[in-house]
Amino acid sequence: MSIKKVRQHPTQNESLIFERSQKGRIGYSLPKLDVESKNLDEIIPVDLRRDDDLEGFPEVSEVDVVRHFTRMSTWNYSIDLGMYPLGSCTMKYNSRLNEKVARIAGFINLHPLVPEEEAQGALELMYELQQNLAEITGLPAVTLQPAAGAHGELTGVLLIRAFLEKRDGKARRTMLVPDSAHGTNPASAQMAGFTVKTVKSTSQGLTDIEHLKALCKEGDIAGLMLTNPNTAGIFEKNIKEICKIVHDAGGLVYMDGANMNALVGVARPGDMGVDVIHLNLHKTFSTPHGGGGPGAGPCCCSAELEPFLPVPRIVKEVDRFKLDFNYPDSIGRIKAFYGNFGVMIRALAYIYTHGADGLREATEAAVLNARYISYHLEDTFEKPFKSDCMHEVLFTHKKQARKGVHTIDIAKRLIDYGFHPMTIYFPLIVEGAMLIEPTESVGRQDLDAFIEAMKAIAKEAEENPQLVIDAPHSTRIGRLDEATAARKPILRWKPEIEAASKTA
Ligand SMILES: *Cc1c(COP(=O)(O)O)cnc(C)c1O
Repeated sequence: MSIKKVRQHPTQNESLIFERSQKGRIGYSLPKLDVESKNLDEIIPVDLRRDDDLEGFPEVSEVDVVRHFTRMSTWNYSIDLGMYPLGSCTMKYNSRLNEKVARIAGFINLHPLVPEEEAQGALELMYELQQNLAEITGLPAVTLQPAAGAHGELTGVLLIRAFLEKRDGKARRTMLVPDSAHGTNPASAQMAGFTVKTVKSTSQGLTDIEHLKALCKEGDIAGLMLTNPNTAGIFEKNIKEICKIVHDAGGLVYMDGANMNALVGVARPGDMGVDVIHLNLHKTFSTPHGGGGPGAGPCCCSAELEPFLPVPRIVKEVDRFKLDFNYPDSIGRIKAFYGNFGVMIRALAYIYTHGADGLREATEAAVLNARYISYHLEDTFEKPFKSDCMHEVLFTHKKQARKGVHTIDIAKRLIDYGFHPMTIYFPLIVEGAMLIEPTESVGRQDLDAFIEAMKAIAKEAEENPQLVIDAPHSTRIGRLDEATAARKPILRWKPEIEAASKTA
């Protein structure tokens, strides 16, 4: 790819709306008043008004406003513009059809407090989704309540805790979490009252079985939280043995299902010995992920854990659907109402439009795409673990670091080539991690363009490292001071800030 192809917006240097402001210019016109005109003070008393607050806003015409927002929308990168190879996050393209289905008036206008009889369609949809997720995971009992992956984790480990307390008449306190885990895993375990012990990974990026056995010998094991494929994108091929070790120690196995994009329709966690799993409907099942909007983290579990699921449960009685609160061992409610319903609609639409064969095909394409990238880049970037990857591939900056070019620089330079950066510095078990997940929704041309861009960056790192270190070159703003941006965020335009930035 030549440098000429580097993304450069034609609107790059247009001035912002604030600089275009002219005193007295207005962007609206109202029809002539056809009632008696009154003094503003008579209508809204001065002490209820914010006249001072509103001072200093830009005064612009309608066309200025339209152009301002249109221009800003072109400075954004989005899944509708190109590939978003964030590993672990599954930023796939989700069909517009599912968005349309989620906006069907009968669904969106239904109040969560309407009586059961009037919500039969919505309850049926949730029931059907539960059945489908049970089939996909091989775990028969499902709650749709959790609002996100981390919330599903918390629900799952609370189920384990309640089950063990009932079984043993006392609590077990130790939750095992591999060192490659997503940070939410130990956090969820801690929130549920467990003490976290870390299981090491092997030099091949797999859970260290010997270390797991040694930790299990110490006793008091409530369970293990395992991600499979793990966060290095590698399938834990010893999963059955791992589950047996934990079960023999009296504990249960929780699977973090964020990586189900590698398994749906091909393999089922329930068949591997897993007791409970959460799914991220916003990663694997069609809710667009990344807008910060609602997600859902349903939890699927074994029959053993079922009595402890949150209430109300959605159950079927002959041909009617019902909210059932009668579960005395339930951990209780974990979310207001029944969870994020719109996300459930998209998930069921996704499952039905794909069908069983389509889901399997999507999984196979996701894995094939990651392996294609792996194959073409493994001579260019260091691949810390040699085994075949699943739906995401892990590289590091080791080769480029010799020239002073690090993961952050490669990620920033990718922006110049028109791609959203991959996930960086995660998982923590390798230095300078670059985790790439193309997903099934990327075609061959885009994969090739991405590979070419990565190779071009590696070449630049060799021949002109400063070019990469100073990237990005094509954006309005270069590198942010990320610490200050996080600690002292400026979330709203204010005239004082604008004035300060002008004098600075
Ligand atoms: C995204 C993710 C989570 C957390 O899910 P949220 O929906 O963001 O709360 C947990 N584990 C892994 C491996 C993930 O990728």
